[in-house]
Amino acid sequence: MTDLYARHKSVLPDWLALYYEDPLEITHGEGRHVWDAAGNKYLDFFGGILTTMTAHALPEVTKAVSEQAGRILHSSTLYLNRPMVELAERIAQLSGIPDARVFFTTSGTEANDTALLLATTYRQSNTILAMRNSYHGRSFSAVGITGNRGWSPTSLSPLQTLYVHGGVRTRGPYAGLSDDEFIAACVDDLKDLLGHTRPPAALIAEPIQGVGGFTSGPDGLYAAFREVLAERGILWIADEVQTGWGRTGDNFWGWQAHGRSGPPDMLTFAKGIGNGSSIGGVVARAEIMNCLDANSISTFGGTQITMAAGLANLTYLLEHDLQGNARRVGGLLIERLRAVAAQVPNVREVRGRGLMLGIELVKPGTDEADPDAASAVLEATRADGLLIGKGGGHNTSALRIAPPLSLTVAEAEEGAAILERALRSLTQ
Ligand code: PMP
Repeated sequence: MTDLYARHKSVLPDWLALYYEDPLEITHGEGRHVWDAAGNKYLDFFGGILTTMTAHALPEVTKAVSEQAGRILHSSTLYLNRPMVELAERIAQLSGIPDARVFFTTSGTEANDTALLLATTYRQSNTILAMRNSYHGRSFSAVGITGNRGWSPTSLSPLQTLYVHGGVRTRGPYAGLSDDEFIAACVDDLKDLLGHTRPPAALIAEPIQGVGGFTSGPDGLYAAFREVLAERGILWIADEVQTGWGRTGDNFWGWQAHGRSGPPDMLTFAKGIGNGSSIGGVVARAEIMNCLDANSISTFGGTQITMAAGLANLTYLLEHDLQGNARRVGGLLIERLRAVAAQVPNVREVRGRGLMLGIELVKPGTDEADPDAASAVLEATRADGLLIGKGGGHNTSALRIAPPLSLTVAEAEEGAAILERALRSLTQ
């Protein structure tokens, strides 16, 4: 055990779980690579849980952050904040939500907390619909809407939550159905829930479940839900913390794969926009955002240094069409991984889109989730110079691949070759 790990264990909470038997200390990064304290270089296919959206040590972001730090490190919502206004304008316009207002927070959890505060106040109801296998954060209210029970440290909640089917297709009561049958079954389930409860405030859902193992229902599922919800005045909150900013390649936001019934009433974002610095936020129609009788509800939300990082990062993303890159390079990567998977009986499914790809592992010839295989692949890829993630509701048996969106074809090939070796070693 390294000295730093021993100190970590002696002073930080036991539940602050670390990846790897011999946990990594990342000291610096560049492009799609990071280095550890021992000088080992890794290709980064997880980007610090999707926080490094464009690239490590992106010069444009570094410059914006250091210039802002050189001017003033200041945070107050009591004065006008130019970078906050500018970033809000960009995000409002990109969100697709009409008459949009943006509120910045410091994390995805806080963004979802704020969305819940808005929805429950606007609708005067503390009943929330959430998806089974979902993850929305770890504050007291976000835990209460997190359907992935393995990731919920408490089952107490200030909210009354009803969980809806729809995020997982490989398991559960609707496994094996066609897209249309699956959507129809989930809509029936939703209607059934609605028939037995006080009117909920909102449905909150990740267009592709992140912590849940990069899994989703068919395109159009949330559009079908939306039609049922809108008739009853129930809001739809899209949690875009993992799916936003073009990561899914085909779309800038995950909700757009369900766009038939229009944009969501609110969307929440975080992770990648700050390229590693802590920005979260909520976008909502003005009448919803302005339903609160409050002055301000954050000190650090929208702090100038993170806004400067976000503006530089978003500008780079758009100017370099990283959404298009995610579509192209992600398309090649998923094809390559599917070809490998066809030869490895431990792989149940390769799924996802753009640069948000999941590999679900099972015990060969069975349907049984195999978390040990996922851990083994994580260790083997690390030893071979590649960082990936794990997730999934069934004892964390899915691998998660989400590199910075500037990933090159050569790097995708290199990472796929390392993954191939690790997956094949499962059968040896
Ligand atoms: N929503 C989703 C979909 C997430 O994946 C996460 C983080 N994994 C959160 C919310 C919470 O974000 P944060 O960790 O920044 O509080």
